[in-house]
Amino acid sequence: MIGAIIGDIVGSRYEGSLFQRDPIELKNPICHFTDDTVLTMAVAESLLRSGKPEDSYRSWWHKYPDRGYGGWFSQWARFPDAPASASNSNGGAMRVSPIAMLGTSQDQVIQTCHDYTRPTHNTEEAMRGAEAIAVLTWFAKNDPDKSMLRTVATTDYYRLEQTVADYMEDQKFELRCDDTVPKAIVAVLEANSFEEAMTNAVKIGGDVDTIACMAGGMAEGLWGVPPSLGNWAWELIPQEMKSILEELYRKGGHDLVFNGIEHKASAGKPSLLKQILSVFVS
Ligand SMILES: [Mg+2]
Repeated sequence: MIGAIIGDIVGSRYEGSLFQRDPIELKNPICHFTDDTVLTMAVAESLLRSGKPEDSYRSWWHKYPDRGYGGWFSQWARFPDAPASASNSNGGAMRVSPIAMLGTSQDQVIQTCHDYTRPTHNTEEAMRGAEAIAVLTWFAKNDPDKSMLRTVATTDYYRLEQTVADYMEDQKFELRCDDTVPKAIVAVLEANSFEEAMTNAVKIGGDVDTIACMAGGMAEGLWGVPPSLGNWAWELIPQEMKSILEELYRKGGHDLVFNGIEHKASAGKPSLLKQILSVFVS
């Protein structure tokens, strides 16, 4: 989940940009969290409290109303009784990483993902996109193997016939799941590190914060979060989001550790073992 948030923050300054080339700067003072992070938090909190997804989406939208939501989503969020929205956009897919973090089986991840996507993205395309990201993020966490991810993705979801280079040649700003979800998957499959997945997302262009957010959750499962990016993003989110991250990781049985610093609600010193390990991974 923190990987998805890093992706959102990295991509925030590139949202809508096209034709970015090396060197790609991942950290910049103007970077900030956007709607992708807010609604990922909404999913996480709802899962932790067993609340209704739509109540959590609306509550978090009210708390952070100016974070770059789609106009239709804001309209939906504004009215408590608004019916399920028939959107094909990637707004459902960008927020599913907590579902993968707490997932107990592929079937359970799929069912939960449908429950959390339907209120705002009730179309076959959007449900497929959200399910693909949730399932692949869950696989990346439990079986960090890119060839397995490609097999699952191409068997169950998308053909993945284009490469990062192809996408760089034909850039456009697009929100649809059938366009942007495969881009996020390819950004990860062609990478060999978390940073490279982020760089690929920026080069692909368009809805970069969401592409990098979707890629970031999968990349975290495959390679973990680099301490420099993890600590940087940690300082850019409010305390209430940190508390939810800590609680979700604890519930999922995952470590939330950057550079030897263990982030826990009852934060103490990192264990000696973690301090020693941090020397080797930093
Ligand atoms: Mg955004």
